[in-house]
Amino acid sequence: MKTEHDRTTRLAPSPTGRLHMGNAWALLLNWAIARANHWRVLLRMEDLDDSRVREGDAEVVLEDLRWLGIDHDGPVHYQSRRIERYREALQSLQALDRTYACSLSRRQIEEALSAPHEHPGTIVASLGRRHEAETTGVDGPTNQRFVCEEGVVHIEDVIAGSYSEDPGSTVGDFIIWTKQGVPAYQLAVVVEDADMGVTDVIRGNDLLSSSARQVRLYEVLDKPAPRWWHLPLVVDQEGRRLAKRHGDRCLEAYRQSGVSAQKIIGLIARWCGFIDRHEPLDVEVFLQLAACQDWTKSGSSFLSGPVMFTEEDHQWLMERS
Ligand code: GLU
Repeated sequence: MKTEHDRTTRLAPSPTGRLHMGNAWALLLNWAIARANHWRVLLRMEDLDDSRVREGDAEVVLEDLRWLGIDHDGPVHYQSRRIERYREALQSLQALDRTYACSLSRRQIEEALSAPHEHPGTIVASLGRRHEAETTGVDGPTNQRFVCEEGVVHIEDVIAGSYSEDPGSTVGDFIIWTKQGVPAYQLAVVVEDADMGVTDVIRGNDLLSSSARQVRLYEVLDKPAPRWWHLPLVVDQEGRRLAKRHGDRCLEAYRQSGVSAQKIIGLIARWCGFIDRHEPLDVEVFLQLAACQDWTKSGSSFLSGPVMFTEEDHQWLMERS
Protein backbone atom coordinates (compact mmCIF):
# COMPACT_ATOMS: atom_id res chain seq x y z
CA MET A 1 0.00 0.00 0.00
CA LYS A 2 1.44 3.35 -1.05
CA THR A 3 1.58 6.11 1.54
CA GLU A 4 0.46 9.62 0.62
CA HIS A 5 4.12 10.61 0.13
CA ASP A 6 5.16 7.60 -1.89
CA ARG A 7 3.20 8.60 -4.94
CA THR A 8 3.97 9.50 -8.54
CA THR A 9 2.23 11.70 -11.03
CA ARG A 10 3.10 12.71 -14.55
CA LEU A 11 2.78 15.77 -16.72
CA ALA A 12 1.78 14.52 -20.17
CA PRO A 13 1.66 17.36 -22.69
CA SER A 14 1.04 16.63 -26.37
CA PRO A 15 3.51 18.61 -28.45
CA THR A 16 1.03 18.91 -31.30
CA GLY A 17 0.86 22.67 -31.17
CA ARG A 18 1.39 25.36 -28.58
CA LEU A 19 0.30 25.06 -24.95
CA HIS A 20 -2.69 27.30 -24.23
CA MET A 21 -3.95 28.68 -20.93
CA GLY A 22 -6.09 25.57 -20.36
CA ASN A 23 -2.97 23.40 -20.63
CA ALA A 24 -1.08 25.81 -18.34
CA TRP A 25 -3.88 25.58 -15.77
CA ALA A 26 -3.93 21.76 -15.75
CA LEU A 27 -0.14 21.39 -15.79
CA LEU A 28 0.46 23.96 -13.04
CA LEU A 29 -2.22 22.44 -10.80
CA ASN A 30 -0.98 18.91 -11.47
CA TRP A 31 2.55 19.96 -10.56
CA ALA A 32 1.52 22.00 -7.48
CA ILE A 33 -0.73 19.26 -6.04
CA ALA A 34 2.14 16.80 -6.45
CA ARG A 35 4.88 19.02 -5.08
CA ALA A 36 2.71 20.16 -2.16
CA ASN A 37 2.34 16.48 -1.22
CA HIS A 38 6.00 15.54 -1.91
CA TRP A 39 5.19 13.20 -4.79
CA ARG A 40 7.44 12.37 -7.74
CA VAL A 41 6.63 14.34 -10.88
CA LEU A 42 7.52 12.70 -14.20
CA LEU A 43 7.34 14.40 -17.58
CA ARG A 44 6.15 12.57 -20.68
CA MET A 45 5.83 13.92 -24.21
CA GLU A 46 2.81 12.40 -25.90
CA ASP A 47 4.35 12.63 -29.34
CA LEU A 48 2.93 9.60 -31.12
CA ASP A 49 0.79 11.50 -33.59
CA ASP A 50 3.37 11.89 -36.35
CA SER A 51 1.12 13.87 -38.60
CA ARG A 52 0.61 16.58 -35.97
CA VAL A 53 3.99 16.80 -34.21
CA ARG A 54 6.32 19.20 -35.97
CA GLU A 55 10.05 19.51 -35.47
CA GLY A 56 10.81 21.73 -32.49
CA ASP A 57 7.32 21.52 -30.91
CA ALA A 58 8.53 19.50 -27.90
CA GLU A 59 11.28 22.07 -27.24
CA VAL A 60 8.72 24.88 -27.13
CA VAL A 61 6.67 22.89 -24.60
CA LEU A 62 9.79 22.31 -22.46
CA GLU A 63 10.64 26.01 -22.65
CA ASP A 64 7.09 26.99 -21.60
CA LEU A 65 7.30 24.66 -18.58
CA ARG A 66 10.72 25.98 -17.54
CA TRP A 67 9.46 29.53 -17.90
CA LEU A 68 6.55 28.84 -15.55
CA GLY A 69 8.89 27.18 -13.02
CA ILE A 70 7.34 23.71 -13.44
CA ASP A 71 10.12 21.18 -12.81
CA HIS A 72 10.11 17.39 -12.94
CA ASP A 73 12.12 14.42 -11.71
CA GLY A 74 14.34 12.35 -14.01
CA PRO A 75 14.64 12.51 -17.78
CA VAL A 76 11.85 13.47 -20.18
CA HIS A 77 10.04 10.38 -21.51
CA TYR A 78 9.13 10.39 -25.21
CA GLN A 79 6.36 8.01 -26.22
CA SER A 80 7.63 7.91 -29.80
CA ARG A 81 10.74 6.07 -28.55
CA ARG A 82 8.75 3.28 -26.94
CA ILE A 83 6.81 1.80 -29.86
CA GLU A 84 8.28 -1.67 -29.26
CA ARG A 85 7.02 -1.68 -25.68
CA TYR A 86 3.50 -0.79 -26.82
CA ARG A 87 3.71 -3.51 -29.46
CA GLU A 88 4.48 -6.01 -26.68
CA ALA A 89 1.35 -4.88 -24.84
CA LEU A 90 -0.66 -5.27 -28.05
CA GLN A 91 0.72 -8.78 -28.41
CA SER A 92 -0.30 -9.68 -24.85
CA LEU A 93 -3.80 -8.47 -25.61
CA GLN A 94 -3.76 -10.49 -28.85
CA ALA A 95 -2.63 -13.57 -26.93
CA LEU A 96 -5.64 -13.09 -24.66
CA ASP A 97 -7.86 -12.83 -27.73
CA ARG A 98 -8.91 -9.32 -26.79
CA THR A 99 -8.18 -7.58 -30.10
CA TYR A 100 -9.24 -7.86 -33.73
CA ALA A 101 -8.40 -6.13 -36.97
CA CYS A 102 -11.12 -3.79 -38.17
CA SER A 103 -11.05 -1.72 -41.30
CA LEU A 104 -14.25 0.16 -40.51
CA SER A 105 -14.33 3.65 -39.08
CA ARG A 106 -16.71 4.47 -36.26
CA ARG A 107 -18.97 6.26 -38.74
CA GLN A 108 -19.09 3.23 -41.06
CA ILE A 109 -20.01 1.03 -38.11
CA GLU A 110 -22.79 3.41 -37.14
CA GLU A 111 -24.06 3.51 -40.74
CA ALA A 112 -23.98 -0.27 -40.98
CA LEU A 113 -25.97 -0.46 -37.78
CA SER A 114 -28.67 1.88 -38.99
CA ALA A 115 -28.93 0.37 -42.49
CA PRO A 116 -27.52 -3.16 -42.40
CA HIS A 117 -28.90 -4.14 -45.85
CA GLU A 118 -26.74 -1.48 -47.52
CA HIS A 119 -23.63 -3.15 -46.17
CA PRO A 120 -23.87 -6.69 -47.46
CA GLY A 121 -21.20 -8.92 -46.01
CA THR A 122 -20.79 -6.80 -42.94
CA ILE A 123 -22.15 -8.50 -39.90
CA VAL A 124 -22.51 -6.05 -37.11
CA ALA A 125 -23.36 -7.47 -33.72
CA SER A 126 -23.73 -4.19 -31.89
CA LEU A 127 -22.16 -0.78 -31.96
CA GLY A 128 -18.42 -0.97 -32.42
CA ARG A 129 -18.36 -4.66 -31.74
CA ARG A 130 -16.80 -7.56 -33.57
CA HIS A 131 -17.49 -7.86 -37.28
CA GLU A 132 -16.98 -10.95 -39.26
CA ALA A 133 -16.49 -9.38 -42.64
CA GLU A 134 -14.79 -6.13 -41.87
CA THR A 135 -11.35 -7.23 -42.98
CA THR A 136 -12.30 -9.26 -46.05
CA GLY A 137 -11.17 -7.67 -49.25
CA VAL A 138 -8.98 -5.20 -47.42
CA ASP A 139 -5.31 -5.16 -48.30
CA GLY A 140 -2.71 -3.55 -46.17
CA PRO A 141 -2.71 -2.52 -42.55
CA THR A 142 -5.90 -2.05 -40.58
CA ASN A 143 -6.73 -0.67 -37.15
CA GLN A 144 -6.80 -3.02 -34.20
CA ARG A 145 -9.76 -2.75 -31.85
CA PHE A 146 -9.89 -3.80 -28.21
CA VAL A 147 -12.72 -6.13 -27.26
CA CYS A 148 -14.35 -4.01 -24.58
CA GLU A 149 -16.62 -6.10 -22.40
CA GLU A 150 -19.90 -4.57 -21.35
CA GLY A 151 -20.41 -3.58 -17.72
CA VAL A 152 -20.34 -0.35 -15.75
CA VAL A 153 -17.01 1.07 -14.61
CA HIS A 154 -17.24 3.09 -11.39
CA ILE A 155 -14.65 5.74 -10.75
CA GLU A 156 -14.20 7.71 -7.53
CA ASP A 157 -12.52 10.79 -8.92
CA VAL A 158 -10.85 13.04 -6.33
CA ILE A 159 -12.07 16.20 -8.04
CA ALA A 160 -15.00 15.16 -10.25
CA GLY A 161 -16.59 12.83 -7.66
CA SER A 162 -18.34 9.56 -8.53
CA TYR A 163 -18.45 8.75 -12.21
CA SER A 164 -19.97 5.68 -13.87
CA GLU A 165 -19.86 4.64 -17.51
CA ASP A 166 -20.21 1.43 -19.45
CA PRO A 167 -17.60 1.93 -22.17
CA GLY A 168 -18.70 -1.33 -23.82
CA SER A 169 -21.97 0.33 -24.74
CA THR A 170 -21.00 4.03 -25.00
CA VAL A 171 -18.00 3.52 -27.28
CA GLY A 172 -17.88 -0.21 -27.94
CA ASP A 173 -14.66 -1.82 -29.08
CA PHE A 174 -12.20 1.04 -29.38
CA ILE A 175 -9.08 1.37 -31.48
CA ILE A 176 -5.84 0.60 -29.66
CA TRP A 177 -3.50 0.38 -32.63
CA THR A 178 -3.86 2.46 -35.74
CA LYS A 179 -3.35 1.47 -39.34
CA GLN A 180 -0.46 3.94 -39.38
CA GLY A 181 1.37 1.42 -37.20
CA VAL A 182 1.33 3.35 -33.92
CA PRO A 183 -0.54 2.71 -30.68
CA ALA A 184 -3.66 4.78 -30.15
CA TYR A 185 -3.81 7.13 -27.17
CA GLN A 186 -5.80 4.76 -24.91
CA LEU A 187 -3.27 1.95 -25.12
CA ALA A 188 -0.16 4.13 -24.98
CA VAL A 189 -1.34 6.08 -21.94
CA VAL A 190 -2.20 2.96 -19.93
CA VAL A 191 1.00 1.07 -20.77
CA GLU A 192 3.15 4.11 -20.09
CA ASP A 193 1.44 5.14 -16.85
CA ALA A 194 1.74 1.55 -15.59
CA ASP A 195 5.41 1.28 -16.61
CA MET A 196 6.27 4.63 -15.06
CA GLY A 197 4.60 3.63 -11.77
CA VAL A 198 2.11 6.50 -11.95
CA THR A 199 -0.26 6.40 -8.98
CA ASP A 200 -2.14 9.66 -9.60
CA VAL A 201 -3.37 10.94 -12.95
CA ILE A 202 -4.34 14.61 -12.89
CA ARG A 203 -5.73 16.12 -16.11
CA GLY A 204 -8.62 18.00 -17.71
CA ASN A 205 -12.07 16.47 -17.38
CA ASP A 206 -12.44 16.13 -21.15
CA LEU A 207 -10.62 12.83 -20.48
CA LEU A 208 -12.94 11.60 -17.74
CA SER A 209 -14.81 9.35 -20.16
CA SER A 210 -11.50 7.95 -21.45
CA SER A 211 -10.71 6.83 -17.91
CA ALA A 212 -13.50 4.25 -18.08
CA ARG A 213 -11.91 2.76 -21.22
CA GLN A 214 -8.52 2.91 -19.57
CA VAL A 215 -9.82 1.04 -16.50
CA ARG A 216 -10.89 -1.78 -18.86
CA LEU A 217 -7.35 -1.94 -20.29
CA TYR A 218 -5.78 -1.93 -16.80
CA GLU A 219 -7.99 -4.86 -15.85
CA VAL A 220 -7.05 -6.94 -18.87
CA LEU A 221 -3.34 -6.07 -18.60
CA ASP A 222 -3.59 -6.96 -14.90
CA LYS A 223 -2.19 -3.65 -13.62
CA PRO A 224 -3.61 -1.46 -10.86
CA ALA A 225 -5.45 1.63 -12.14
CA PRO A 226 -4.24 4.96 -10.76
CA ARG A 227 -6.23 7.39 -8.65
CA TRP A 228 -7.99 9.87 -10.94
CA TRP A 229 -8.22 13.66 -10.58
CA HIS A 230 -10.15 15.37 -13.40
CA LEU A 231 -9.97 19.15 -13.32
CA PRO A 232 -12.59 21.51 -14.76
CA LEU A 233 -11.75 22.80 -18.23
CA VAL A 234 -10.91 26.38 -19.09
CA VAL A 235 -13.38 27.93 -21.55
CA ASP A 236 -13.48 31.22 -23.44
CA GLN A 237 -16.19 33.87 -23.06
CA GLU A 238 -18.46 31.95 -25.44
CA GLY A 239 -18.10 28.87 -23.27
CA ARG A 240 -15.93 27.05 -25.81
CA ARG A 241 -12.94 25.00 -24.64
CA LEU A 242 -9.62 26.61 -25.36
CA ALA A 243 -8.07 25.15 -28.48
CA LYS A 244 -5.79 25.87 -31.38
CA ARG A 245 -8.12 28.64 -32.62
CA HIS A 246 -6.96 30.68 -29.60
CA GLY A 247 -3.43 30.60 -31.02
CA ASP A 248 -2.66 34.21 -30.17
CA ARG A 249 -3.32 33.33 -26.53
CA CYS A 250 -0.86 30.48 -26.26
CA LEU A 251 1.87 30.54 -23.64
CA GLU A 252 4.60 31.02 -26.19
CA ALA A 253 2.85 34.11 -27.61
CA TYR A 254 2.51 35.63 -24.13
CA ARG A 255 6.11 34.77 -23.30
CA GLN A 256 7.30 36.39 -26.52
CA SER A 257 5.24 39.51 -25.99
CA GLY A 258 6.97 40.12 -22.66
CA VAL A 259 4.18 38.95 -20.34
CA SER A 260 5.75 37.66 -17.10
CA ALA A 261 5.36 34.07 -15.93
CA GLN A 262 4.20 35.56 -12.59
CA LYS A 263 1.17 37.07 -14.33
CA ILE A 264 0.21 33.72 -15.85
CA ILE A 265 0.58 32.08 -12.44
CA GLY A 266 -1.35 34.90 -10.71
CA LEU A 267 -4.21 34.49 -13.20
CA ILE A 268 -4.36 30.74 -12.58
CA ALA A 269 -4.31 31.39 -8.81
CA ARG A 270 -7.28 33.70 -9.30
CA TRP A 271 -9.15 31.06 -11.32
CA CYS A 272 -8.52 28.67 -8.40
CA GLY A 273 -9.93 31.20 -5.94
CA PHE A 274 -6.55 31.38 -4.14
CA ILE A 275 -6.54 35.18 -4.61
CA ASP A 276 -9.41 37.53 -5.43
CA ARG A 277 -7.85 40.03 -7.84
CA HIS A 278 -5.46 40.22 -10.76
CA GLU A 279 -2.01 40.06 -9.25
CA PRO A 280 1.32 38.55 -10.37
CA LEU A 281 2.45 35.66 -8.19
CA ASP A 282 5.70 33.74 -7.81
CA VAL A 283 5.46 30.03 -8.44
CA GLU A 284 6.68 29.33 -4.86
CA VAL A 285 3.75 31.33 -3.47
CA PHE A 286 1.36 29.41 -5.73
CA LEU A 287 2.81 26.22 -4.33
CA GLN A 288 2.29 27.39 -0.73
CA LEU A 289 -1.31 28.30 -1.51
CA ALA A 290 -1.87 24.92 -3.14
CA ALA A 291 -0.38 23.21 -0.09
CA CYS A 292 -3.03 24.84 2.15
CA GLN A 293 -5.95 23.37 0.17
CA ASP A 294 -7.95 20.34 1.11
CA TRP A 295 -8.14 18.88 -2.39
CA THR A 296 -10.64 16.25 -1.44
CA LYS A 297 -13.18 18.78 -0.20
CA SER A 298 -15.63 19.67 -2.94
CA GLY A 299 -17.14 23.13 -3.03
CA SER A 300 -13.88 25.01 -3.54
CA SER A 301 -14.67 27.65 -6.14
CA PHE A 302 -12.59 26.13 -8.93
CA LEU A 303 -13.82 22.59 -8.42
CA SER A 304 -17.40 23.32 -9.22
CA GLY A 305 -17.38 24.09 -12.93
CA PRO A 306 -15.56 25.36 -15.97
CA VAL A 307 -13.15 28.22 -15.50
CA MET A 308 -13.67 31.20 -17.79
CA PHE A 309 -10.72 32.91 -19.43
CA THR A 310 -12.27 36.35 -19.92
CA GLU A 311 -11.35 39.24 -22.19
CA GLU A 312 -10.53 41.17 -19.04
CA ASP A 313 -8.04 38.46 -18.01
CA HIS A 314 -6.36 38.71 -21.41
CA GLN A 315 -6.25 42.53 -21.27
CA TRP A 316 -4.68 42.39 -17.82
CA LEU A 317 -2.00 39.95 -19.01
CA MET A 318 -1.17 42.27 -21.91
CA GLU A 319 -1.08 45.49 -19.83
CA ARG A 320 2.40 46.89 -19.44
CA SER A 321 3.26 46.88 -15.77
N1 GLU B 1 -1.62 14.42 -23.79
C1 GLU B 1 -2.91 14.77 -23.27
C2 GLU B 1 -3.12 16.28 -23.38
O1 GLU B 1 -2.17 17.02 -23.58
C3 GLU B 1 -3.10 14.36 -21.85
C4 GLU B 1 -3.33 12.92 -21.73
C5 GLU B 1 -3.46 12.41 -20.31
O2 GLU B 1 -3.18 13.16 -19.36
O3 GLU B 1 -3.81 11.26 -20.17
O4 GLU B 1 -4.25 16.71 -23.26
